[in-house]
Amino acid sequence: MKKIQMVDLQSQYAKIKDVVDPSIEEVMNSAAFINGPKVHQFQKNLENYLGVKHVIPCANGTDALQIAMMGLGLKPGDEVITADFTFAATVEVIALLQLTPVLVDVDPVTFNIDVNAVKEAITPKTKAIVPVHLFGLSAEMDPIMDLAKEYNLYVIEDNAQGIGADYTHRDGSKTKTGTIGHVASTSFFPSKNLGCYGDGGAIFTNDDDLAHTIRGIVNHGMYERYHHDVVGVNSRLDSIQAAVLDAKLPHLDAYNKARQNAARKYNEAFKDHPKITIPSGRSQCNSICETCDCHVFHQYTLNLMGVDRDALVAHLQEKNIPCGVYYPIPLHRQKAYMDERYNETDFTVTNQLVKSVISLPMHTELDEEQIEFITSTVLNFINSNS
Ligand SMILES: *Cc1c(COP(=O)(O)O)cnc(C)c1O
Repeated sequence: MKKIQMVDLQSQYAKIKDVVDPSIEEVMNSAAFINGPKVHQFQKNLENYLGVKHVIPCANGTDALQIAMMGLGLKPGDEVITADFTFAATVEVIALLQLTPVLVDVDPVTFNIDVNAVKEAITPKTKAIVPVHLFGLSAEMDPIMDLAKEYNLYVIEDNAQGIGADYTHRDGSKTKTGTIGHVASTSFFPSKNLGCYGDGGAIFTNDDDLAHTIRGIVNHGMYERYHHDVVGVNSRLDSIQAAVLDAKLPHLDAYNKARQNAARKYNEAFKDHPKITIPSGRSQCNSICETCDCHVFHQYTLNLMGVDRDALVAHLQEKNIPCGVYYPIPLHRQKAYMDERYNETDFTVTNQLVKSVISLPMHTELDEEQIEFITSTVLNFINSNS
């Protein structure tokens, strides 16, 4: 059996080497390393793929979030609501811009931001909501957009884990995540669903004025050469990374399908176990059906009940099966983001999930034999140890 990895970028690269290498070589030969034609070409192709008016490439997903907030003109003291159960980048940039992070609990089934908790957290100072499409499943965008409209708030989608996912609206129509809010951010970190071979990120918006503002912000606040109209940053996607991404973009749907296939096999093995909850699909899909493309499985995450998770993690390590705990500590309990306004009782779901979730290997190259070995190892442990 091939060695099991959490993410297998080597095997994936071996299959696309014949398109990636010439694309990189083109950049090397042209020496257009910064803002070269590859960056523009990738930007246009991603705009078409997503069905969004503007993609603004930048250096990484964390910058993308920060720049989106700067572009919206958020000011120190403005409150920004986001989820307690996510990667720290989201809350980090809110704090860095001296905005006030307001963390709220997540839904126990989808692990995404709890819309009722968002509503309860809104104050006259609230300016924006940042839903995260966690693990590749879209947050509940229709109700979030309704709230935003009612309270005049901006919605910034953190799409770092959700690229290529669809959100199914109430009327059954589908839209790509990252194109629904006022603005969205994504990351092209190598292990993300669309990853480059270094750092990269992008901002998406359908708003022409905001896109213009953001294009200046990523380039030192310049709209005209050497005229600095606003305080900006230096955040660029380099041409070599754009070359990799442009070669990989045509494979994104197939990559997400491969992840969904792996998830379906995992689900088959785990679905009826009383101590295991498999990942949720959208309410409209209920399960991961053949045609369902709402969940793109950046992570495949189980929620365990009555299982010694740490012992399972140790057992899997012994069997050379990597796994992850995303995320082991709620953001509201991280030293950097503690706030006396928070009550533990407001985070019952996150406080539980950090103790009971486990993410299994998930990538585009998993084969039957590996999945069979992973599922049987997990099930044997749970059945014999509890
Ligand atoms: C990866 C990630 C980011 C940050 O992306 P970088 O490119 O590593 O800066 C932000 N938010 C979420 C939810 C992520 O998973």
